[in-house]
Amino acid sequence: MSSEQQTWWDRYHEYLKSPEWYALRERVMRRADGFCEICALGQPTQVHHTTYKHVFHEFIWELRAVCDRCHARLHRTPTEQKPLVPGLGDRMFGSARGRKEGEA
Ligand SMILES: [Zn+2]
Ligand SMILES: [Zn+2]
Repeated sequence: MSSEQQTWWDRYHEYLKSPEWYALRERVMRRADGFCEICALGQPTQVHHTTYKHVFHEFIWELRAVCDRCHARLHRTPTEQKPLVPGLGDRMFGSARGRKEGEA
């Protein structure tokens, strides 16, 4: 990874802790109204970027509230930090909202 990329990631991770991101995230979650915007079944636990083109100044339509299962699928990473147990996402919604990796 080049140092330029490293700087971008550092900035991105800082951004995910910023009030600006939290406000944006809340708007996306409100739009989703409790349902994953990919499968419309699971409860969204995080907000996914469909593109990183406008990161730091995203359009709302570039963001999707997603459940854990869809998010893992979107990133093709079966090794999410928690196991993909059906239904688990629903119960973890409350605590998941505050965790620092709100996006990945
Ligand atoms: Zn989903
Ligand atoms: Zn994502």
